Amino acid sequence: MKKVPILLLFAFLIAGTVFAQNNKAENIIIVSIDGLRWHEVFQGAEKELIINKKYNSQDSAQRIKKYWADDQQERRAKLMPFVWGTIAKSGQLYGNRELGSKVNVKNPYWFSYPGRNENLTGYADIKVNSNDYPDNPNKNVLEFIDQQKGYKGKVVAFASWDAVARIINRNRNGLMVNNPFEDIKGDNLTEAEKLANEIQHYEPQIWGDGERLDATTYALAKSYIIAKHPKVVYLDLADTDDHAHGGNYDLYLDAIHNIDTMIGNLWNYMQNDPFYKGNTTIIIMPDHGRGEGKQWTSHGSGTPHSNDTWLMAIGPKIKPLGEVKNNGQIYQDQYAKTIARLLGFNFTSVNPIGEAIDSVVK
Ligand SMILES: [Zn+2]
Repeated sequence: MKKVPILLLFAFLIAGTVFAQNNKAENIIIVSIDGLRWHEVFQGAEKELIINKKYNSQDSAQRIKKYWADDQQERRAKLMPFVWGTIAKSGQLYGNRELGSKVNVKNPYWFSYPGRNENLTGYADIKVNSNDYPDNPNKNVLEFIDQQKGYKGKVVAFASWDAVARIINRNRNGLMVNNPFEDIKGDNLTEAEKLANEIQHYEPQIWGDGERLDATTYALAKSYIIAKHPKVVYLDLADTDDHAHGGNYDLYLDAIHNIDTMIGNLWNYMQNDPFYKGNTTIIIMPDHGRGEGKQWTSHGSGTPHSNDTWLMAIGPKIKPLGEVKNNGQIYQDQYAKTIARLLGFNFTSVNPIGEAIDSVVK
């Protein structure tokens, strides 16, 4: 047998590794922020609402100091420093209607289950018309990705709202969906996972037993991410919608600010973890918008403009377009196919689903 020179062998091995890395399947973190308006994302805190005593449960002077600036760009950066310091520079933001960037819900209901169904299945299903809707019959992009080579068992979800298990239909697909007050299971949990499991049971159940605070959902998700390295994470956060329905603009702003920080910390963590560094995308969207002026607390088909939404993405394959202007119209039914395409897959369904968003995937 002819001997392969050892140096040549190493060269092949190194080339093979480089090739494998270039073709390494991507990871994606999908963050859903319930009922966060485009107004706060692009314009920051709204003056009429932040100064109105009726809409502030606590000291409004403190929130004004924290979130107000006369300059709109400065104001929005105070509210969402990660979005405006990092995503606006290295990623893409859609939905600033003042710049001709329109993003909308396609389903006719403009509330939570139908919105998340649309985001995840690509289908604005007229039959999905209630937050109490049972297990979702529509195929979603998470279970689709879970069936692709290299992804089996590496697609997981963490949710602040218990309807998410039905929306994803874990009873059908067996995906790991961590619903409120469910523990991360397994024999070899890290201390961080064990602590996150434990403390969720001590939190005040402000919105009943079907909802958990976003900070708790985040702790569970992050501890799991660090320990298990899932390739696809759906993180479903909801404090924003709850505080807005409660009419507490100060707490709504705090929720937005905290979620921005959570996403930033997750992103920064991933830039330092060899598993995620350089091959992970974060895509962020709401399920619906909210009304304008006095109707900011509400949403639904009876509340005008609560179908106006937004979209953000950042990652190595995402062109750094920043705040996109005059992009025409994006609908939320395009997200499922876009998410799959970012990983190199073509999501199809028996349902008529939206096309991938060109400027995100190209
Ligand atoms: Zn909602």
